[in-house]
Amino acid sequence: SSNTSYKDVEDRGPDPPADDDVAAFWKDNDCKVYGGSPPPFLSFEAANLPAPIMDAIGKAGFPKPSVIQAQSWPAAMAQRDVIAVAKTGSGKTLGFLVPGFQLIMNGGANPMMGANLLVLAPTRELATQIEVECQKFGAPLGIRSVCCYGGAPKGEQLGKMRQGCHVIIGTPGRINDFRESNQINL
Ligand code: AMP
Repeated sequence: SSNTSYKDVEDRGPDPPADDDVAAFWKDNDCKVYGGSPPPFLSFEAANLPAPIMDAIGKAGFPKPSVIQAQSWPAAMAQRDVIAVAKTGSGKTLGFLVPGFQLIMNGGANPMMGANLLVLAPTRELATQIEVECQKFGAPLGIRSVCCYGGAPKGEQLGKMRQGCHVIIGTPGRINDFRESNQINL
């Protein structure tokens, strides 16, 4: 039997562009947007990021948000649920980390009370790459992260978490291990 109440965000067709600039941006970048998303941030200024995040981006030398960042930041920052799909090297890691960092910074998160941001990755390799990006851009903001994956001793990962962390990045098996043994507080 099929679920007739299920609605897919794509059922209503793609969003209409807010204006000619957005239409051109979508066309030039082969972008498809669904679900009534707010318009993209075509510059970093439009994103109105906290100064320390802008400093880190300035040091990295990025001229403008990548396509996936431009499109997903406004929706994520409006606290919408977002599914963003783009290939490796497209800047999608900062696409989800930056809105998460902003929430952590605005919310006055206490890293001793448990992480505020959980990033699940399918493989250790990917989790590790996300952790590198998270350290590079998060550490200057005082954001602490821990990477948890299987096949490595638990003690070191737990020790880091107990020192306080805002972000847990990990693979599902190890994260679930810690969760079931009440060693992480989500
Ligand atoms: P991804 O694996 O999709 O997250 O892409 C990561 C790569 O994109 C890293 O080399 C980043 O330094 C780079 N990157 C992230 N954001 C930008 C941006 N706005 N402009 C240029 N490169 C970026």
